[in-house]
Formats: sequence, C-alpha cells, structure tokens
Amino acid sequence: MSTTAEEGKQQKAFGWAATDQSGTLSPFNFSRRENGDEDVTLKILYCGVCHSDLHVLKNEWGFTSYPVVPGHEIVGVATKVGKNVTKFRVGDRVGVGVLVGSCKTCECCQQDLENYCPQIIFTFNSYNPDGTKTYGGYSDMIVVDQRYVLRFPDNLPLDAGAPLLCAGITVYSSMKYYGMTEAGKHLGVAGLGGLGHVAVKIAKAFGLKVTVISSSLDKESEAINRLGADSFLLSSDPAKMKSAIGSMDYILDTVSAAHPLLPLLSVLKVNGKLVTVGLPNKPLELPVFPLVFGRKLVGGSDVGGMKETQEMLDFCAKHNIAADIELIRIDEINTAMERLAKSDVRYRFVIDVGNSLSQ
Ligand code: NAP
Ligand code: ZN
Repeated sequence: MSTTAEEGKQQKAFGWAATDQSGTLSPFNFSRRENGDEDVTLKILYCGVCHSDLHVLKNEWGFTSYPVVPGHEIVGVATKVGKNVTKFRVGDRVGVGVLVGSCKTCECCQQDLENYCPQIIFTFNSYNPDGTKTYGGYSDMIVVDQRYVLRFPDNLPLDAGAPLLCAGITVYSSMKYYGMTEAGKHLGVAGLGGLGHVAVKIAKAFGLKVTVISSSLDKESEAINRLGADSFLLSSDPAKMKSAIGSMDYILDTVSAAHPLLPLLSVLKVNGKLVTVGLPNKPLELPVFPLVFGRKLVGGSDVGGMKETQEMLDFCAKHNIAADIELIRIDEINTAMERLAKSDVRYRFVIDVGNSLSQ
C-alpha cells in the first residue's frame, strides 16, 4: 500500500460497530491510517445498508471478526489526496464499494477483476497488509487507495446513488458476464430487495422483458407501477408458478435466504440460465434433472472490478437509474436492520451519515 513520511501516523475516526453476534450497533471510536501518497481520504456523506452487512453483523457466514463497522456503499467528498493521486482532487464526489485493496499483480487484477483477487481486501471485516482491520462506511471518514475509489457522476443523487456501489454493480456485472442483456429477452428477478429492485431498473434499460418473482404479494403493484417490471409472479403460488413454466430466458436470483431452486429452474426455457448473486448462509440444493433435460446453466457472480464499477455508474447516470431508498439517521440503524431481516424495506436503507453521525 502507500508509503509516506507520515506512515504510521493515524487519523481519528468515529462510527457505529457491533461487538458480538447480537449484531447490535453502537458508537465506536477507532483510527484509520494517515493519507498516503496513493490514497484518497473521504468525508462520508451517505452509506447504503446491504443485506451482506446484516449477514456479517450476525456472523451468518461464520467469518465475522468483531468489532465490525459495516458499510460498503459509501459516497462522500474527497478531503485529502496523496501526491501520486492523479484521478481525484479535493472536493470531488467519490464512491467506495465492496473492496479497498487487492494484490494488483495476479491474473484477476491484471484483467480488471480485482474483485476475484485471492488477496482481496474487503471494505470491512477484512485486514490490511499491515495487519490492521478494515472498517466500513457506517463511519465519518475512510482512507482508500485511489485504485479502489470511483468517480461519482454529477447527475447521480449522492443518497439514492450510493446503493449502486454494491447492489448496482452486482446485478450489472452478472447480467453482462452471463450475456443476459439482449433486448427483448425475458429475465426473471427473484427477490425484490435492494439488489432485485436495481436489477429491474438496469434490465429495463437493457431492453429486457422483466418479471419479478417475489414472496411478497404486497410488492406487486410497486414492482410494475413504480419500478417498471412487466409482470409479477408470487413464488408461493404454485398455480401461478406452473403457468410460467418454460417462459423465461434468464433468472437473476437475489434471494438472501435458503430457498428451493426447482421452481426457478422450471420457469426457465431450454438453454436458460439461472445466476445467483444472493448469499444465503445455508447451501442451496441443486436439482440436476431440469438442468440436464433442459440444457440449463447455473452460475454465480460477485460484485465487479473497478473498471466495470465505473462503467456501471456512468451507465446508471446516463439512464437516470438510482435506488429507491428510505433515508435513515444512524441512530435508527438497529431498527432498520430488524426490518431488513423481514424484507420490510422499500427498497434500500441509506444512512444519512453526514447529517446524523456525530460523537
Ligand atoms: P434484501 O434487500 O434483503 O433483499 C433480499 C430479498 O430476498 C428480499 O427482499 C425478499 O424479496 C427475498 N427473500 C428474503 N428472504 C426470503 C425467503 N426466506 N424466501 C424467499 N425470499 C426471500 O437483500 P439484498 O441487499 O438485496 O441482498 C440479497 C442477497 O445478495 C444477500 O444474501 C446478500 O448478502 C447478497 N449479496 C451478494 C452480492 C454479490 O456480490 N454476489 C452483493 C451484494 C449482496 P421478496 O420480498 O421479493 O421475496
Ligand atoms: Zn453489498
């Protein structure tokens, strides 16, 4: 990482952390490294609340290292730039997503796929090369190597745009990599939460026909009238699911909890693709008969590299795509997490860090 005469010096930071598996967040003082030659320091203004934050807070994936300050949909203003920083100036609108470091030399890093680098450093619940822990965006400031900082387009709202830095890139990258962007094709979006609702908007911008496959009947009219989906399928209604058999070219599965894949594979056409981006804490059972007899494909995808994340932000700016958000104060975060666990959010909580986080 960066080296300067200031190396070893620390900057004071303040955020909200969970210290145990209850996941309850409370005020937390900590420090971050001084801004190095390659670094950008951000004053954080907004941070989205991703379901991955909740999985980690509750140690649902089994690798949480407490204390943990979550948050990886970070938008703010650059307040310091190192002397080697060419891409940013003090005062720029900038964003930080899921990763803040990688080895920069492996095959993945060389192909702009830093998100698949074996030495990836996640924005929180991870470790810097010097052994210090990474803390995320439920905090007042962050110091990040310029390679992992995004330009935040002028016409994107800072608050509603923040969720693009994880939710947006995750659905954009998976659709692009798996060739699920051809106009006129039929995409099913399973799970209408943070990722799912951005997927609907991006898919419509690609010209796809979109069906939301949801377990929440009360999301039907919003899915169609507010988000622009073409149709809605209630996953718990066997008759409706049966009537959709063999009707979709692709499914993007964003469901956060364990669920059966058979109904989803059944609604795919022959040669259909199901790509999961959801990360339930239990394995999903894979029925092979529909795969074999329908030549279907199941894949996965993890956020995106830095180049593609910038491309996605510029795409969303061009198409006026941002998240539908519920803006909250930091002291409302524990209630928000309880609601997120119940799929009760329309459709992403974003913390107003700039106006509500103070010691
Ligand atoms: P979210 O806002 O909570 O949305 C998840 C949706 O899944 C819910 O709104 C709900 O949609 C559906 N759902 C939840 N529990 C369910 C259940 N028991 N049965 C059926 N459906 C259920 O979460 P998110 O932030 O979009 O994240 C979704 C998942 O993606 C999480 O597991 C997260 O960790 C993961 N993720 C992965 C990546 C990646 O790079 N691959 C990036 C970010 C997040 P309905 O109400 O419509 O049914
Ligand atoms: Zn996320």
